[in-house]
Amino acid sequence: MSIGRVRPAITGLPAYHPGKAAEQAEAEHGISGAVKLASNENPYEPIPQVVEAMQEAAKGVNRYADHRATGLREAIGDWIGVDERQVSVGCGSVGLLQQLFLTYVDAGDEVVSPWRSFEAYPIFAQLMGATFVEVPLVDHRFDLEAAAAAVIPATKLVLLATPNNPTGTAVSTAEIHEFVSGLPSDVIVVVDEAYREFLDPGFGDPVRDLVPQFANLVVTRTLSKAYGLAGVRTGYLVAHPDVVTEVDKTLVPFAVNAIAQAGALAAVRNASAYKPAIDRLLAERNRVVSALTDAGWKLPDSQANFVYLDLGERTLEVCVELERRGVVTRPFAGEGLRVTIGTPEENAKFLGAMAEMGGDA
Ligand SMILES: *Cc1c(COP(=O)(O)O)cnc(C)c1O
Repeated sequence: MSIGRVRPAITGLPAYHPGKAAEQAEAEHGISGAVKLASNENPYEPIPQVVEAMQEAAKGVNRYADHRATGLREAIGDWIGVDERQVSVGCGSVGLLQQLFLTYVDAGDEVVSPWRSFEAYPIFAQLMGATFVEVPLVDHRFDLEAAAAAVIPATKLVLLATPNNPTGTAVSTAEIHEFVSGLPSDVIVVVDEAYREFLDPGFGDPVRDLVPQFANLVVTRTLSKAYGLAGVRTGYLVAHPDVVTEVDKTLVPFAVNAIAQAGALAAVRNASAYKPAIDRLLAERNRVVSALTDAGWKLPDSQANFVYLDLGERTLEVCVELERRGVVTRPFAGEGLRVTIGTPEENAKFLGAMAEMGGDA
């Protein structure tokens, strides 16, 4: 039943389904000790400096925070070597992605993205009444030639998640350079780097390699994944100052709250303290990839904190079998399973379950 005149764009939308919680899987299967490897979260808690900064900020939440998060923009600018006017912050990088849609995409416009990719993209396109154009992956990788061919005059936005969610594959800044060079300069190209910290540096840095040359190129990043702040929702964007000015107009007032700002600021100021945890996750990713490869699996080259199993029609069946063994993963029905890299114990549980299930690749 719909009350009031709900926009058709909304009635047609499915409800958002976050990754299943471990507790839910435990209740469904009558088990205990389940682990969640479904949402690409960092399994480690934030460093003490970040927790302390958020506790301190909690004392002041009777006041509105700084809407622009000026201090955080400056700190991010210093950290990554760009002018503060090239930085925007938002309510997670998902919040910034939605702001980019609000800024550039009208009903009837087109948005192009390789697919499968991040699930928020088509939802935002539908919210705007725009058409989402899927450019099929080839061997789980982006086909940028096909993506370029999909761009027409109605195209406002191109979205490139690299490393891609859920396949983990990445494209180099040289490839993106060639791609953007061939597009009209009024098409905004978003390089979504939610998993940047897990990427081999050999792929290049779009902030260094691309932003200075292309005023229509936007890089989004987040504190949610490598910096373990998923729960407080802070992401940032790097672009030409004129892009930042327009995107800023669409921020929900005070959406980057006081606790999020304080936590993100402490994380940025102490970014090097995260290196050991990131290295640990990378070592674990390599261990999981090796174990699966030894068992006969052919995995796409993951440059993120997760691996992707191309299971096709067996996806849901394998997902349920893993859940029965206490491992919650993220299925894409009929396509594949995304498994987040967790602690060594969690990964061992996943690998153990795979082995127990026969592990026939
Ligand atoms: C997780 C993720 C994000 C964003 O997360 P936030 O918590 O909103 O910063 C953005 N893009 C991709 C591809 C992701 O997987």
